[in-house]
Parts: sequence; structure tokens; C-alpha cells
Amino acid sequence: MIFLTVPHATCPQSNLYNTEFIHPCDKLALKSAKILKKIGGDDVQIFEGDIPRTTQDLNRERSRTTSYRKNLTESMKEQMPSYVLDIHSYPDSKTISFPKGSEIILLDNNAFEAEYYSMKLLNSLEADGIIAKLRKGAKTNDIQKEARNLKLRSILIEFNESLSEERLKYIARSIVDWSSKQ
Ligand SMILES: [Zn+2]
Repeated sequence: MIFLTVPHATCPQSNLYNTEFIHPCDKLALKSAKILKKIGGDDVQIFEGDIPRTTQDLNRERSRTTSYRKNLTESMKEQMPSYVLDIHSYPDSKTISFPKGSEIILLDNNAFEAEYYSMKLLNSLEADGIIAKLRKGAKTNDIQKEARNLKLRSILIEFNESLSEERLKYIARSIVDWSSKQ
């Protein structure tokens, strides 16, 4: 079983947040998760965030009391998935601190320490001709943190929002192929 968490799936209603300077929701994350599920089938389960991050960020520790996080915690304990992939997306613009031109960015708190499966995924993506980067993630990325505390393997994946549908499908296939082999 592979879990796909999408904590920033829901956009706020207000246009107040529609500026290029803030990133109120992940516009390509849910679509990416659905494509991953379409490829992975019954082995893949999506957890779609239901609160905009401008109201409450579901990827923070203080959100563990929300129904979204409580359901996720219970499901992780019961099903012990082989991977918890935390799915996000980012605009390919200079206002965001990610390197421009990458198709996908992996964030991992422990990327350069013991948790080297992120590095393995990176190598596999690169072997498939995908422009990928691995970066140290924020310690506050709480879904990854909680999964790790439960001894589950977790990778945070950021998709570039300017990816074409065709490219997105190609990358999703590469991720599913890799994770089902592990
Ligand atoms: Zn996000």
C-alpha cells in the first residue's frame, strides 16, 4: 500500500490570496495524486486535505487534532503503508525559493543521513530523464515527521506547476514503478 497525502489540496475562496507573492494552495498536487493513483490502482490511497492552508496548514504539528490528520494517523497505524508520499506543487516563478527549471523536487529532512531511499528515488527519476532535485525539507513538515515517527518511509514530493499533462503522466509512471519495486 502507498499513501498519497495532499494537505494543500483545497484553495481558499477569497481572491485576496491570488497574488504572485504567496502560495495559498498547491494547484497541481491533487491532479498529480490522481494520476499516480490511476497508474498505481488499488495499491494507492489518496488523503485529500479539506482545509485551505491560509486557514490552517494541515502539514503542521498543531493540525494533528483535525479530522484529516486523525484519520491519517489511524490509517497509517492500521495499514502500515510501504510509503507515505506527501504530494505538493509549486509555481515555477522567481517568488518561490525552489530552483527554476526542475520538473520535480524531493524534500527530505534526513535526505543526506540515514534515510537514503529519497536518494534512490532521485537516482531512478534521473535515470528516466527527469529533471529532479533533492533538498533538505523544513523540520515543520509534519506529515513526513509523523510518518517517520511511526517507522514508515516518507518522501515529500513537489511537482512544478508548469508541467504538461504528458510530462506529469511520464513522471508519475516513473514514481509508481520505483515505489512498487522497493
Ligand atoms: Zn504544499
